Amino acid sequence: MAVIAFILGVRPKDIPEPEPVSPFQHLDERKAAIYENLRDLQFEYRLGKLSDDDYQSTKKDLQKELARVLAEVDKLKIAQGAPAAPPAAPAKVVVPPTGFVCPSCGAKFPTALKFCGECGKPMRLAQ
Ligand SMILES: [Zn+2]
Repeated sequence: MAVIAFILGVRPKDIPEPEPVSPFQHLDERKAAIYENLRDLQFEYRLGKLSDDDYQSTKKDLQKELARVLAEVDKLKIAQGAPAAPPAAPAKVVVPPTGFVCPSCGAKFPTALKFCGECGKPMRLAQ
């Protein structure tokens, strides 16, 4: 009976403030309330006001609630912190190779070379 009153007593704190500054604050307040309730619960248990069963089941309820709040915080953090979609990687402009031509001797090569394989002069990409 005491436990039920205890749990019911928690509820009003769960009701969000009329205008929460941020969803985080609301969740933080709920989290704080749950921690406080867990502390109170432990305190009452130590005083012998609660049976083991009452203590365990209430604690489990509170921890479940806490897990839910923490999950919501995580969800919000992900929703707010991370961009909705990862920025698309800039499309690589791939110029189809038409061959690499030595500007000096005009020799053609299938791959880019720093230096011409024919005359040994610096190469550049053929346009
Ligand atoms: Zn060359």
